[in-house]
Amino acid sequence: MIRRDIIDLLTVTPGKKFKLKDQNPGWKQSEEFADFGKEALKEKAKEVLEKNLEDLAGAQDLLYADGRYSVLIVLQAMDAAGKDGTIKHVMSGVNPQGCQVFSFKKPSTEELQHNFLWRYSKCLPERGRIGIFNRSYYEDVLVVKVHPELLGRQLPREKEKLGKKFWAKRYEDINAFERHLTRNGTVVLKFFLNVSKEEQKARFVERLSRPEKYWKFSTSDLTERGFWNDYMAAYEDALAATSTKWAPWHVVPADYKWITRAVVADIITTAIHGLELRYPQVSEEQQKLLEEARIKLAAE
Ligand code: ATP
Ligand code: MG
Repeated sequence: MIRRDIIDLLTVTPGKKFKLKDQNPGWKQSEEFADFGKEALKEKAKEVLEKNLEDLAGAQDLLYADGRYSVLIVLQAMDAAGKDGTIKHVMSGVNPQGCQVFSFKKPSTEELQHNFLWRYSKCLPERGRIGIFNRSYYEDVLVVKVHPELLGRQLPREKEKLGKKFWAKRYEDINAFERHLTRNGTVVLKFFLNVSKEEQKARFVERLSRPEKYWKFSTSDLTERGFWNDYMAAYEDALAATSTKWAPWHVVPADYKWITRAVVADIITTAIHGLELRYPQVSEEQQKLLEEARIKLAAE
């Protein structure tokens, strides 16, 4: 398990000032890490990931059997930060029956006719399941804040202006939504995969140089890269305003995939372990029936 104080370095403290520039997208988040050295840290991260993947499989089994809680994993990031790879690796050991992934793209006309949380509400994980949101309702205060024309029919009513207050209300709605979820047994785990602008460029270049990766590149990726600073400002505001006691944000270094995966797997596993789950108790009456069944089978 990763030490609590290290996880704290990667967590946005509710109510405190938060600056993205204080978060390192690479591997040197602390002096201790720098002293430790990159290769040693990489080895350690791989060990942590392996151990967590084993534990996560067990934890998920118990979550499913216990049936009282669900886990919602929210993944947000700039393009090429590694959302897909993180899902693939972190979830590689879990039972697919207990896991659901939803990827959110541009909303449809029908979706725009509803309140902005509607389409996400329909995809929330039921009790016993882990649900992953590959992009989420946070897009509605990120890409939509950078490109307000995307609001379409969700534009504020005439009296209201599309100013600071509009976004503050959305943050408030999101916080209330997540509090509602946590009060009703959903654990909300939020990850911002923090990739640097340089590393994004390197990954785009790689995609453009390998035919089997062409499909991963879209020209809009480059357009959005042009808005990098606007996105960073939107992320900084959103993360500061929506990191709460009940659903804090984790800023996960994303320039090195081994760090990203180890951190995400560790936080998920620790959170599920923290639920004190148990296999359903069998009543005395059920115990008797089981005993009878065992005797019957033995006599066959
Ligand atoms: P990948 O590129 O790895 O396949 P992706 O998540 O980037 O995955 P894309 O199809 O490239 O998927 O992009 C989805 C696009 O949909 C993103 O640009 C995202 O900002 C946009 N999007 C998601 N939610 C909303 C929303 N609520 N309003 C407007 N745009 C949204
Ligand atoms: Mg994309």
